[in-house]
Amino acid sequence: MSKALLPKIDLDLCIGCGACVASCPYSVIEMDGDFAKVVRPADCRQVKDCVTACPVSAITMEELEYDDSGLKS
Ligand code: SF4
Repeated sequence: MSKALLPKIDLDLCIGCGACVASCPYSVIEMDGDFAKVVRPADCRQVKDCVTACPVSAITMEELEYDDSGLKS
C-alpha cells in the first residue's frame, strides 16, 4: 500500500462531463459509466490540471492510499 497526494472525486458533485479525463497528461482518470474514476493513481504527478478543469469543483487533492488495484478510499 502506498500513500500520495491524489485527486479525490466527489461523486455527489460529478456530472460526468469528462473534462478531467481530457485534462490529465498522465491518463490518471477515466470515465466509469456516468462518473470519473481515478484508475492510475501511481502515475499522478500532482499537476492538478483535473482540479482546474472540473466545472463543478468535484475534485480536491487529498492524501489517499492506493495499491495496484486502485484507490483504497
Ligand atoms: S471534470 Fe468534474 S464533473 Fe467532469 S467528469 Fe471530471 S470530476 Fe466529473
